[in-house]
Amino acid sequence: MPSRERPGKAGAKAPGASASTKKSASKGPKAKSKAKSQGGGRKAAVAPAVPPAPAPEGAVTVTFLGGLGEIGRNCACIELDGKIILIDCGLMFPDLDMLGIDLVLPDFEYLRQNADKIVGCIATHGHEDHTGGLSFLLRELSFPIYGSELTLALARNRIDEAGLSDRTEFVVVRDGERRSIGPFDCEFIPVTHSVPHGFATAIHTPQGVIMHSGDWKLDLTPVDGRLTDLTRMGSIADQHGVRLLLADSTNACEKGHSRSESSVGKVLYDLFHEFDGQRIITTCFASHVHRVQQIADAAIAFDRTIATMGLSMKKNVKVARELGLLDIPESRLRDIADVKDVDPSKLCIISTGSQGEPMSALSLMAANENKFVKLDEGDVVIMSSHPIPGNESNVTRVIDGLTRMGVEVVHSGIEDVHATGHAKKEECKTLLSITEPEWFVPVHGEYHHLAAHARLGRQMGVPKDQVLVCEDGDQLVIEESGITHRPKAVPAGYLYVDGIVGDVGDGVLRDRRVLAEEGVVVVVVAVDVTTGAIITGPEIITRGWVYAPEAEDLLDQCAEVVRDSIKDAFQNDATDIETLQRHVRRAAGRFVAANTKRRPMIVPVVMEA
Ligand SMILES: [Zn+2]
Ligand SMILES: [Zn+2]
Repeated sequence: MPSRERPGKAGAKAPGASASTKKSASKGPKAKSKAKSQGGGRKAAVAPAVPPAPAPEGAVTVTFLGGLGEIGRNCACIELDGKIILIDCGLMFPDLDMLGIDLVLPDFEYLRQNADKIVGCIATHGHEDHTGGLSFLLRELSFPIYGSELTLALARNRIDEAGLSDRTEFVVVRDGERRSIGPFDCEFIPVTHSVPHGFATAIHTPQGVIMHSGDWKLDLTPVDGRLTDLTRMGSIADQHGVRLLLADSTNACEKGHSRSESSVGKVLYDLFHEFDGQRIITTCFASHVHRVQQIADAAIAFDRTIATMGLSMKKNVKVARELGLLDIPESRLRDIADVKDVDPSKLCIISTGSQGEPMSALSLMAANENKFVKLDEGDVVIMSSHPIPGNESNVTRVIDGLTRMGVEVVHSGIEDVHATGHAKKEECKTLLSITEPEWFVPVHGEYHHLAAHARLGRQMGVPKDQVLVCEDGDQLVIEESGITHRPKAVPAGYLYVDGIVGDVGDGVLRDRRVLAEEGVVVVVVAVDVTTGAIITGPEIITRGWVYAPEAEDLLDQCAEVVRDSIKDAFQNDATDIETLQRHVRRAAGRFVAANTKRRPMIVPVVMEA
């Protein structure tokens, strides 16, 4: 996932401040973690020097704060008559090179500047890349959230945890409902996806209909029978025309159609048949209620007792059962702490950890460190998922660990135990052909996904100059005469969250990379600044450069070089601590580079004695 430079924001933040930049301290309850706007720096963006010019009278604007150029942190704002409605406010999980970072959020600066205009946020579905940012944004701003019952139930997990439920109102909207939110006339259209009850949204505006697909696929045989409502989309196109289509690009590079979710059920059934008599452990995303249902159906068909493992799986199964979206009889469920007396061959565990997350239930099982279940030869693990980019090595490690224990592992590379939740090429084309948009902007994807989707748009007859590839921070101004694309109109860099302590800025991340790759050399020396005599040291302390006990000579030589550099400095009348530190750093750095061809971080600590 690409990262980008956040336009010129800096500034220290007080402990306990929210995910805010500069002076704006948290107005909400004390934040548990701190966040800081920053850039990973692989993709530079120019700072908008001034806020974007106000839109002309009567215009509607669409501003992208995240999700265009990466999978994650989806967030768009639509503005009309001085009011803003958000579509989604998600988070992104960090790249491997974002060391120590827990989460990445959209840059909220634009929303902060326009706080009084925000009338609400539409949560298209319950995935965290669409709702996970709300528990941060609500620390500073307050607005209602609209979504299906399940979406809101999933979204409120983090919001409750952050103690922010009183800063919002959860407003349930139903399939096909049309309601006004401020000046926005919004219609909620059912779509199928890998979490139930997702919506596409049609916003009827004076500048025509803006149709947002949400995350969607065209599943003609969904597990719950709730279809993507193409009919309604088509009739909106017929009646009003679709002025602008914003559509999911995740799988725009994948040929053909996505498989139906219910096809996975058949595969699971066959596997349960094949492994009848063996203990079966399955994993999938905890929010994938339909997958959980199909696993449970297969388990029940073979007379198994079901136990969930992992907190989010337990929570989501409870919520989905309460909402009537998951049908597992109480008599079939057993708490994982009480499965010891269940015949292993009559047990099915549904666990988290399908992405090989290091502390997840499955990873702990693979490391033989799970307190509830010790796996053994003869056990079967079915990983009903596909690793999302960046997680492959973790998943492979887990599969290896399990295999080494003699466990039989079935994953998506072996059997069709997973179906994507996102539209592939042919489905993207179907949506384009049904909505016949006047303008088309691909959303939800890395840049190459957006570009591929744009190609499909042109192929499907959207005029070339009316297909726009936008990125985070870009703004569209919709007027009668057409749509103007304003690139990089608002700040849209990465907002890093590190849940432990302190600010995480670009500098901190850079330091972490140096430390991770090259280590650190600390040079401690006490100097009498009047005479230039070295009172103690230099002492060379290192981590990650050379292993000190085996490199005494090298450390002695380095100390000698530092001693000389201090002598030199005094001969040149450089006697203040800062200048001495500079000399020490330079001398030690040169020595280290010349002798080992490495560039660890050099930290000079020169003390006045
Ligand atoms: Zn999704
Ligand atoms: Zn998504």
